[in-house]
Amino acid sequence: MQTLETTMKVKVQELWGKRPLIISGPCSAETEEQLVATAQRLAATEKVDLLRAGIWKPRTKPGMFEGIGAKGLPWLQKAKAVTGLPTTVEVATGKQVQDALTFDVDVLWIGARTTVNPFSVQEIADALRGVDIPVLIKNPINPDLELWSGAVERVARAGIKNIGLIHRGFSSYGNTEYRNAPMWHLAIEMKRRNPELLLINDPSHICGRRDILQETAQKAIDLDFDGLMIESHIDPDNAWSDAKQQITPERLGEMMGKIVWRKEDAASAEFHAALEKLRQQINQLDDELMQILGQRMKIAEQIGTYKKENNITILQTNRWNEILERAFKEGERKGLSKEFITRYFDAVHMESINHQKRVLDS
Ligand code: PEP
Ligand code: MN
Repeated sequence: MQTLETTMKVKVQELWGKRPLIISGPCSAETEEQLVATAQRLAATEKVDLLRAGIWKPRTKPGMFEGIGAKGLPWLQKAKAVTGLPTTVEVATGKQVQDALTFDVDVLWIGARTTVNPFSVQEIADALRGVDIPVLIKNPINPDLELWSGAVERVARAGIKNIGLIHRGFSSYGNTEYRNAPMWHLAIEMKRRNPELLLINDPSHICGRRDILQETAQKAIDLDFDGLMIESHIDPDNAWSDAKQQITPERLGEMMGKIVWRKEDAASAEFHAALEKLRQQINQLDDELMQILGQRMKIAEQIGTYKKENNITILQTNRWNEILERAFKEGERKGLSKEFITRYFDAVHMESINHQKRVLDS
């Protein structure tokens, strides 16, 4: 006879190949009723693949709700039995791994505050040795890809085969729009380095608020993320943790319905031919840009020679302001943002100065 747990194992295996993979559930398990009701209403949307719930909560300040603890694990078992949804829980210690396994949690995740600490990650990895369970690893709080990669390596070395990444944004001082700045390029770079790993976006912890969740989730899907983890609560405003960012299960269903799911690859031959042609045009233009930049540097070197002969400093602030003003005006006409123009000209300017310095030092 197949038990719930053997069917679950198969289900979880299949999940690993499913796109998009949608994970949802409350930030924290609070009561049995809250958890089971959330799970039932999420299951009713038919948009959710994996039920999440925080059992042990790493909180920034003491005195905040630190999770219900192991007592909540049987509630997760019940939610699973009632809905058929496999479950996932955050673990931060070896003991928590043991407890989660005892209560048949199907997928584990390592939180952002744990990924930063190699001691903790190693302790979790040691507890996982010989265990067959998928593990999702959130990015560390600070924007450091080496730490994130290190955690992946520790878990992989423990023998875990199914590893996924969760991008939940990075802490940055003075940032107001997001709770955790997405720094999308870091997630993209992590995927480039680890193309075989599943990449999930967590817009809840990036946004920290409900009003920009939809657009952030859409952006992740447009960037070819494999799935989403979004917090959901039956009564978001009264949630015991992360009340501002949680949404009701029904709202989650609506949000998923509105997302435009794009494919990285389209099958049609015409599409590929058209894309190939446009890519060749891009390559051609990039080659030309490179050539022009090379010419620009040669002229900068000539100016360097002239400055050397006349004993003039390399940097002349007035001239630099004049270049930027011209570029902003021209850029605006061409639809290039001021931010881009600033970054681009800063880079070009630095390269010019380096070329001139070589001339002056010669
Ligand atoms: C969470 O998922 O509830 C959580 C604590 O997330 P993070 O580790 O990303 O802060
Ligand atoms: Mn949370």
